[in-house]
Amino acid sequence: MSQSKDFLRTIVEEDLKAGKYTEIHTRFPPEPNGFPHIGHAKSICINFGIANDYKGHCNLRMDDTNPTTEDTRYVEALKDAVEWLGFNWEGNVHYTSDYFPELYNYAIELIKMGKAYVDSASEEEIRQNRGTVMEAGKRSLYAERSVEENLDLFERMKKGEFKDGEHILRAKIDMSAPNMQMRDPLLYRIRNVHHYRTGDVWHIYPMYDFAHCLSDYLEGITHSICTLEFENNRAIYDWVLDTLGLTAKRPYQYEFARLGINHTVMSKRKLLELVNEGKVNGWDDPRLPTIAGYKRRGYTPESILNFCDDIGIAKANSTVDMAQLEFSIRDDLNTKVPRVLAVLDPLKVTITNYEGAEEIDAPYYPHDVPKEGSRKIPFSKEIYIERDDFMENPPKDYFRLTPEQSVRLRHAYIITCKEVIKDVEGRVVEIKAEYHADSKSGEDTSGIKVKSAIQWVDAHKAKTVEVRLYDRLFKDEAPEGLEDINPNSLQVIKNALIEPAVITEKPDERFQFERQGYFYADPVDYTDEKPVFNKIVGLKDSWGKKTKEVKFTPKVVEKKVQIDGEVVAMTEAEQALFDKYTNELKLNSEVANTLARDVKLSSFYQEALNELYSPVNIANIVANDVARELKDKEVGELKFSAKQIAELMKMVDDETISNKIAKQVFEAMVKFGENPKEIVEAKGLVQISDPAVISPIIDEVIAKNPDNVEKFRAGNNKLLGFFVGQVLKATQGKGNPKVVNELVAEKLQ
Ligand code: ATP
Ligand code: MG
Repeated sequence: MSQSKDFLRTIVEEDLKAGKYTEIHTRFPPEPNGFPHIGHAKSICINFGIANDYKGHCNLRMDDTNPTTEDTRYVEALKDAVEWLGFNWEGNVHYTSDYFPELYNYAIELIKMGKAYVDSASEEEIRQNRGTVMEAGKRSLYAERSVEENLDLFERMKKGEFKDGEHILRAKIDMSAPNMQMRDPLLYRIRNVHHYRTGDVWHIYPMYDFAHCLSDYLEGITHSICTLEFENNRAIYDWVLDTLGLTAKRPYQYEFARLGINHTVMSKRKLLELVNEGKVNGWDDPRLPTIAGYKRRGYTPESILNFCDDIGIAKANSTVDMAQLEFSIRDDLNTKVPRVLAVLDPLKVTITNYEGAEEIDAPYYPHDVPKEGSRKIPFSKEIYIERDDFMENPPKDYFRLTPEQSVRLRHAYIITCKEVIKDVEGRVVEIKAEYHADSKSGEDTSGIKVKSAIQWVDAHKAKTVEVRLYDRLFKDEAPEGLEDINPNSLQVIKNALIEPAVITEKPDERFQFERQGYFYADPVDYTDEKPVFNKIVGLKDSWGKKTKEVKFTPKVVEKKVQIDGEVVAMTEAEQALFDKYTNELKLNSEVANTLARDVKLSSFYQEALNELYSPVNIANIVANDVARELKDKEVGELKFSAKQIAELMKMVDDETISNKIAKQVFEAMVKFGENPKEIVEAKGLVQISDPAVISPIIDEVIAKNPDNVEKFRAGNNKLLGFFVGQVLKATQGKGNPKVVNELVAEKLQ
C-alpha cells in the first residue's frame, strides 16, 4: 500500500468488508479544458492509487459537457499526465459525451415522473427566485407545465428550435431547501454550438450535477471522489440516482480537500490566461505547476507521487508550501543522479606553475549512492571557476578562494592565488594562481588545510551550454492575478561551461551540478551541438532568505548547508532534528531550520509537543512568536510556559478560536502571564461559527456595497475575498473564516 490509511481508504475497506461492493471502481474525471496541474496529480494518485491498492479499477473519463472550452489537445495532455505518473486505465478512455443519448433518456424519465420541468424564465429571474440562505425561494410559474408540454419543449430544445437561454430543464425538488443547491437545480441548458466530439448533433448539454452521477452509475463506479467544493452538490447526486431508482450497487460521492500550493495559481482558467497572454512559454513552461511543466523542468514522476503521498488526504483546505514539493524532488534525485562540474558565471584562472595536460579520474556518484560509474575530467594550465568563488575582500566566514586563502579544486589540486588581474573598470577578469603538485585529491600529502572545494572546468575542453534558471512565477504567496507575476522568474545563461563527459558520455539526463543544484537536459531544445539544461531545483531551500543582490549560489545558502562533506554548518544533531522535522513532522524547511538550530526553541517545541500533538501549528507559533520572545531571554524568564502554548494551540485546533485571535491571546500571555483559556473567556474571543449570528452581518456588508455585489455577479470573482474580509473585520476577527466563506459565497450567488 502506498500510504498509511486515510479516511477514503477507511471507507473503501469498510464497504468491502460489509459486502457493499465486491470490487472497487473509481474514476478520474477531468474536464478537458486545459492542461492538468499538480492538483490533478493529487486526484490521479488518489483515484488510481485506491484502485491499485484494493485490486479494483479506475476509469479515465473526460467530463466534456461544456462544448465551448474543450479540445482534443487537452485530452491528449490528460492521458499523457496519467501515463507519465505511472498509472494506466483499462480499456478505452471514457467520455461523458458518449453518454449523451442515455442522459437524455434519463431526463425524459424524470419529466414523465413529474420530477423535472422546462423553465422559460430568464437567467436573472431564476437567480432572484432562488431566495437566500435565510429566505425560501419562489418556484417558477412554468413549473406547473404538464408532462406533455414539458416533453414537447424538451424535444424541441434538443432539436435546436430555440435560442441559447430561452428555456432550461430543471429538477423539481424543493425551493425552500436549506441547501441552496437543491432549489430546483438546472439539468440541461441550450447551447447552439459545435462540440469537439459530438459535432452539431446536440443543441442541449447536460449540467455537471446531472451528468456526473449518471456517468458514474453507467460506468459502475463505486466511490466517486471529488473535491470539497462539491459537498453541497452531493444531495443532488443522491437525489438524481435515487429518484430514477438507480439504487442497486450505486456509487456514492466523497469529498477531500483540494491541493493548493503557495506562490502559484492552480485553476486551469488562470493557467490558460498565463499561456494566452504570453506570460509563459506554453503549457509546458517549467515555471508552471502543470504536469507538463514539471515534466519538462525535470521533475521525476516518483517525486510527484511521493509528494502527493507525503501531504496526505485532508478534509480541510490548506495551502502546501512549495518548499515541500522541492524537498520531494531533491530527495529523489539525491540518491539517483551523477554529480558533475559546471560553471555558470566563469572566471578564468591561469595556473602559472602547471605545464601540459592530464585527465583526472572522478566517480560520478558519492559513496552513499549505490551506483557505479566514473569519468575523466580534463585538467590543464587554464581553467574556469565560478566568479562567486573568488573574493578579494571577503567577509569573515568566506571559505573559498581569496588572495590569502587557498582552495581545493574539486577532485583535483589545491590552488593558491598569486595575482588578481582587473580590467579598466576594476572588474576581476583573471586570477593567476599556483597549484600544489602534492595535493591531488585522494593522494594529498601537502598538509595544506583548506575550508572548501569548488567546481571548475578546463578552459579548452569544456563545452558551452545554455542554462535556464527558474524562480517562483509569482512574488506573492497567494497571488491574485497577472499583476503579481515575478518579472525575474526566468534567467537564461547562454555561456555556461560544463565538463565534456556530460555531453559526450551522457551518463544520465538529470545531473547534480556540484554546489549549484539539480539540472535536466531540456527534452525539447537540447542537442549535442547546442546543449540546454533546465534547473530543476537548488540543493537546499533558499526561499524567503534570498535577497535581490544574490544572483545564484547565494552565500547565505552555503552557510547553512553541507555540500558533499566540504562545508559543514549544521551539527549532526541539528541535521538529525531538521530531518525529523521535515520528514516526520512535515514542517516546512524554513520553520524546521529555525527550530533545529536553536536548542532553546527545539526543546521548548518538544515540550509543547508532549502536551499536544499538533506539530505544524505548534512549530509555527514557536518558530515565529515564541522565538521573538526568546531572542534575549531564557525560558525561565518567560511569563508563559510550553504547556500554555499547547493549550493555546489546542483551542485553534478545535476551532474555539481562529489563528488570528490566537496571536492576540499570545500577546496577552506574553505581557500578563495569564492562562490562555482565561484570556479567551474574559475577553470574549471565542470564535463565532453560528450562521444565525454571522448571516445578518453579511447582509449588512452586502447592503453597504451594492457596486461590488454587482461587479461580483458580473464575474469579478476576486471580490469574494473583499466581502469575506469585510465580514471578518466586522466580527473583529472572531468569525470562523470557513463558515464566513461559505455563507458569503452562498449569499452572493
Ligand atoms: P480547475 O479549477 O483547476 O480547472 P477543476 O476542478 O475544474 O480544476 P477538473 O478537470 O474538473 O478540474 O478536475 C478533475 C478532477 O481533479 C476532479 O475530481 C477534481 O476534483 C480534481 N482536482 C482538480 N483540482 C484539484 C486540486 N487542486 N486538488 C485536488 N484535486 C483536484
Ligand atoms: Mg473546472
